[in-house]
Amino acid sequence: GQCVAVCPTGALTEVNNIPVVWNALDQNEKTVVVQVAPAVRVAIGEEFGLEPGAISTGKMVAALRALGFKYVFDTNFAADLTILEEASEFLHRLKDGENLPILTSCCPAWINFVEGNYPQLLNLPSSCKSPQEMFGAVAKNYFGPKVINVESKDMYVVSVMPCVAKKYECARTELGQEDVLDVDISITTRELAKMIKEAGIDLLNLEDESFDSPLGESTGAADIFGATGGVLEAALRTAYEWVTDKELSDVNFTQVRGLEGIKEASIDIDGTIVNVCIASSLGNARKVMDEVANGNSKYHIIEIMACPGGCVAGGGQPYHHGDYDIVKKRAAGLYNIDGSKELRKSHKNPAIVALYNEFLGEPYSEAAHKYLHTHYFDKSVVYEDACGECTCSKEADA
Ligand code: SF4
Repeated sequence: GQCVAVCPTGALTEVNNIPVVWNALDQNEKTVVVQVAPAVRVAIGEEFGLEPGAISTGKMVAALRALGFKYVFDTNFAADLTILEEASEFLHRLKDGENLPILTSCCPAWINFVEGNYPQLLNLPSSCKSPQEMFGAVAKNYFGPKVINVESKDMYVVSVMPCVAKKYECARTELGQEDVLDVDISITTRELAKMIKEAGIDLLNLEDESFDSPLGESTGAADIFGATGGVLEAALRTAYEWVTDKELSDVNFTQVRGLEGIKEASIDIDGTIVNVCIASSLGNARKVMDEVANGNSKYHIIEIMACPGGCVAGGGQPYHHGDYDIVKKRAAGLYNIDGSKELRKSHKNPAIVALYNEFLGEPYSEAAHKYLHTHYFDKSVVYEDACGECTCSKEADA
């Protein structure tokens, strides 16, 4: 039969989800909620003639409301939530000296890669679901049933992502409760731009609007998730304050920023030196992971993103055609948003504090595990036939 390439970033298997989303918006049985990842707001403007990095949050929110979404929420909310869970998990592991280095788990293409290539190290990725999935879990199991009195099965969660791999992440059946998936469908930044155009909405002339509450509240730490190094920086801001019980006055860990493919730093947290590494692209991930596999790695935390530069350069964004000035401008847009926010540490997000008080208890609690954590699978068998040129496998389409 015909061969189907299974590409780690999903770029080769991109499916058009626009008709599915129109259909969800047209039928009135379910409460249709949308979440938007951080990297989208600094790139979608390019599809309408704005400069890369232009911050289009308010107009994007207005457009989503005009498209018919009942609640327009922010994946950033869940990025803050991810930080509380991941920083807790890291500090548990550091205390026990076990399962180090912790590897970030918010990039599904990277998770697919580690499952396929390093099955002996599946104790290392953080068990935290990605922000996309945490958002869906909270929308369906807290916001629906406990805030607006809608059962989780009657909620429909759409995500707008800079990413093609997020489409298969939301289809992973372990990411949900029983037969209700956390996220129903994911569209890319480019697909959202197409929908706005199809609807005849004049994005540039919309009045700015704000995200709905409470799943629209976020801190600057969440915005920087979209750039390589950002997840790690956000985690450090929270881990530092939790460990030291002191205020971190300068939240800018500039040593972990920038487009370089592999970055490293040593951070002094009250006398404990934490060695951190950030890799973007799967080629760089392999270099770093081979050291981990050989026992030669000195790192305590490693952030890995499959796309060179992180999600701002994701496969679902407006095409950058290899022009990394565009990617830099988008990242700069995210750091500008972070710098302009009053709250820049995830654990200071009042909506997150309220979510723990009302629903989850403590970070890393039993309830948090039930809704916000996951597990991984050995997928190395699928990769046996890989050609060796890249990480994809070829499966016969019988
Ligand atoms: Fe998706 Fe790329 Fe971001 Fe990974 S780095 S989550 S593949 S956009």
